[in-house]
Amino acid sequence: MKLILLGPPGAGKGTQAKRIEKDYGLVQLSTGDMLRAAVAAGTDVGREARDVMTAGRLVPDDVVVSIIAERIDKPDCAKGFILDGFPRTLAQAESLDKMLSEKGGGIDRVIEIKVDPDALIERIAGRFSCSGCGAAYHDRFNPPKVADVCDICGGTKFLRRPDDSAETVGARLAAYDDETAPLLPYYRALGVLRSVDGMAGIDEVTRGVRGAINGAGGD
Ligand code: AMP
Repeated sequence: MKLILLGPPGAGKGTQAKRIEKDYGLVQLSTGDMLRAAVAAGTDVGREARDVMTAGRLVPDDVVVSIIAERIDKPDCAKGFILDGFPRTLAQAESLDKMLSEKGGGIDRVIEIKVDPDALIERIAGRFSCSGCGAAYHDRFNPPKVADVCDICGGTKFLRRPDDSAETVGARLAAYDDETAPLLPYYRALGVLRSVDGMAGIDEVTRGVRGAINGAGGD
């Protein structure tokens, strides 16, 4: 099973990917997480990506395509994967199709998480994650059960992404509209697109995502 979660920043792709990866034995592949790790490690890719990410723009296609090409060849991806934050441009989608067809496969399902644009800024501004295990939280919509303690690993250190700042969010949303939204008609034409209402509560969205994975056909 090869899935893509598609939607603007703040739609809940990462949260949903983490929830469904265990149920289906899939691996979450987040290019954002991989790039943040490269920045933290100070690799060549990280140095190239850092300023672009801080400005809320997209990292060049060839950089992310080669990261993904290398990653999906690893043994843990053999049972399938959930792409979260990739592809983000038509050129990336076409490279992915080529990569997968060379291995004799293709994308099984693209799940669009649809969210009202007005809700995105509040969602992004309030989010944070556990620095130990990466579990995602939100000040208002999904706080830890015990304040300042991670529900999953008990950790007490949390991170807020620098690119979730008010200055950067506008550029990230514009990049989605200009470069990523055109992927919707692309995948609709391939018959693999399903849309889920991302404005519902987190559990209900997960049910919608499961339904979209299990159901037949496209939108
Ligand atoms: P994300 O964690 O998915 O919101 O990604 C954070 C940032 O990483 C984005 O704003 C981009 O600067 C960069 N990035 C992540 N994935 C991609 C991609 N597929 N193509 C280009 N840039 C990306």
